[in-house]
Amino acid sequence: MQRPALSLIIPVYNEEAIIAELDRRLKAFLSEIDETWEVVFIDDGSRDRTSEMLNELAAAEPRYKVISFSRNFGHQLAITAGMDRAEGDAVVIMDADLQDPPEVVTEMIAKWREGYDVVYGQRSVRHGESVFKRATAAAFYRLLRALLPIEIPLDTGDFRLMSRRVVLSMRALREQHRFVRAMVSWVGFKQTAVRYERPERFAGETKYPLRKMLRFAIDGITSFSIIPLRLATWLGLFSGVVAIVTSGWAVYAAVAGETVPGWATIMIAVALAASAQLIMTGILGEYIGRIYEEVKRRPLYVVGETQNLPPADGTSTAAEPAAVASQES
Ligand code: UDP
Ligand code: MG
Repeated sequence: MQRPALSLIIPVYNEEAIIAELDRRLKAFLSEIDETWEVVFIDDGSRDRTSEMLNELAAAEPRYKVISFSRNFGHQLAITAGMDRAEGDAVVIMDADLQDPPEVVTEMIAKWREGYDVVYGQRSVRHGESVFKRATAAAFYRLLRALLPIEIPLDTGDFRLMSRRVVLSMRALREQHRFVRAMVSWVGFKQTAVRYERPERFAGETKYPLRKMLRFAIDGITSFSIIPLRLATWLGLFSGVVAIVTSGWAVYAAVAGETVPGWATIMIAVALAASAQLIMTGILGEYIGRIYEEVKRRPLYVVGETQNLPPADGTSTAAEPAAVASQES
């Protein structure tokens, strides 16, 4: 079978309220463009009717492919599975909730034809998202920029087009805690942005509650930066200086015969030292936990079944997709 020019990767988790409209918008868009295409849906262990609805659509449209996970593995692993199986010369990652409008993909394709390898969508305006979500997102992207050793664009999610050589390079990165947008920056090649207004979610609720967002943020920072570990050195130096100053003062106070009122100082010093140590133990724990999970070398996800795709080997192991990459490039 000939490879399509365009692959769309769409992770889907409990989105039964959206599937019909998504299908309509996709087909309207795909019939307009002048490219051969496929759409790879990843059903991330949905518990509603999502899976059945996708399989029904795929039964009628062979260019719709479905990968169903055996349980919920999370958005980043869903798009990873999509990249492992997408065959297009250009591959686009987009959300199912129509917050990444298919029409913007036309602009991305134009940039790709100009010779760019990665075209990411940059949000100029975000509609229908709470002030809290927007403020935390803005703060997070700026913090990341300060902490990460690689350049990652501001206000950019996973909505992006990647050329096949970028996708093949991504297949070689098999780490467990994945922050896909930064991994794409890490791969390099010629990258550019298209700006778009991010519309409101079409229906249903966000699948990224605060708890998941926090975990995602910590993954993002720890998988690309060891600056938090270095914090220990700086905190240690700082508390060392404080300790020297305090001891000088304590000796002076003792000599001057004023030792009794020292209780408060001791309490404060002990509390400060204890909190600094606990913070650093926590940060060490974050990294050690990740080392532990990496050394297990588990597959990143487990595929339950597929439709319109050659039978999967069931899992994605560390070596296999990289082998595919070297064979085909
Ligand atoms: N999603 C997923 N697995 C998850 C959570 C989300 O595949 O565990 C999908 C979801 O169906 C949607 C996309 O990831 O297509 C983005 O999720 P959502 O729109 O809820 O995030 P938000 O836009 O609110 O950040
Ligand atoms: Mg959304």
